[in-house]
Amino acid sequence: MRIVITGGAGFIGSNLARTLSEHPEITQIRVIDNLSTGSKENLLGLDVHFIEGDIQDAALLDQAFHGADAIVHLAALPSVPRSVKDPLASHHANATGTLQVLEAARRAGNLHVIAASSSSVYGANPRLLKHEDLTTAPMSPYAVTKLATEAYLGAYHHSYGLPVLPFRFFNVYGPGQRADHPYAAVIPKWISATLTGQPVTVHGDGTQARDFTYVGTACRVLKDALLRRVVEPRPVNLAFGTRLALLDLIPAIEAATGFRARREHIATRVGDVLHSQADGTRLRALFPTAEPVPIREGLMATVDWLGTSIAGAHRQRVH
Ligand code: NAD
Repeated sequence: MRIVITGGAGFIGSNLARTLSEHPEITQIRVIDNLSTGSKENLLGLDVHFIEGDIQDAALLDQAFHGADAIVHLAALPSVPRSVKDPLASHHANATGTLQVLEAARRAGNLHVIAASSSSVYGANPRLLKHEDLTTAPMSPYAVTKLATEAYLGAYHHSYGLPVLPFRFFNVYGPGQRADHPYAAVIPKWISATLTGQPVTVHGDGTQARDFTYVGTACRVLKDALLRRVVEPRPVNLAFGTRLALLDLIPAIEAATGFRARREHIATRVGDVLHSQADGTRLRALFPTAEPVPIREGLMATVDWLGTSIAGAHRQRVH
């Protein structure tokens, strides 16, 4: 099988490339990435064909998709605050970019397209558990672009018979997720702060809850979806309904790092969702053998990776 990963130099994409490269049925992995948030370093040591460029470049997509069997479309500008600051940039990369990917998949002969939507589409809808049939209520431009992503996949299935599978990812974390940029996600940011003696900054009172998914869990589901060519035009939550309040994440990080965290509360963030917890029924029906890596185990692996990368960065500064 020949697989193209858009955004494959990013956090989830590079983990997926590693997972797929270990499978004998996957004979070629191509990555298309414009390196806007990703890095070639993430792919070091992996046998992937790297194409540097933008998913809004139709000719480049034709070249990348030629002879492929499936696309995992992960390329996007992935942050809520980034989209609040620059909504057009998020729209171009995430919504227009998805449309370009779907058009190229159609031109290439109805390739299987798996794509990343996000739990942020539930937005202001307060109901828990988050079942896929709940009314969506995006609170940020980012969430709108992800709603467009999954809606375009559904529309391409119905209009052109494209075999698609839109996943709603919920707070994916793990090795490879960087802490050293302004839009870093909460787990790498807090682990890094705890390891370096900086305060852990909590937006609001910290009672907001998230359904954290270990990246290895997400990649195993993506691999299974590719190998079994799972097609489902309706969005599918890629999470298992494990709910953790941010305040409870702090002791979990203390246990994984072996350091005490210093807590500091700051203002709530515009566009942030209050609580997030998936209903995993649709996921389990499609992927009955999928099992999540427990948070304790996932945090340990993340601490190992971040500890090594922080030590590496420190060595570079000293020399
Ligand atoms: P990431 O930023 O690490 O990866 C995104 C990759 O896409 C980067 O390598 C970036 O350089 C590339 N990219 C961005 N715009 C591009 C463009 N126009 N053309 C080509 N490449 C482009 O983010 P991630 O956390 O790995 O997220 C992957 C996907 O999963 C994204 O679509 C994101 O919206 C979605 N998602 C992630 C999470 C999460 O918790 N990490 C949650 C929900 C949804």
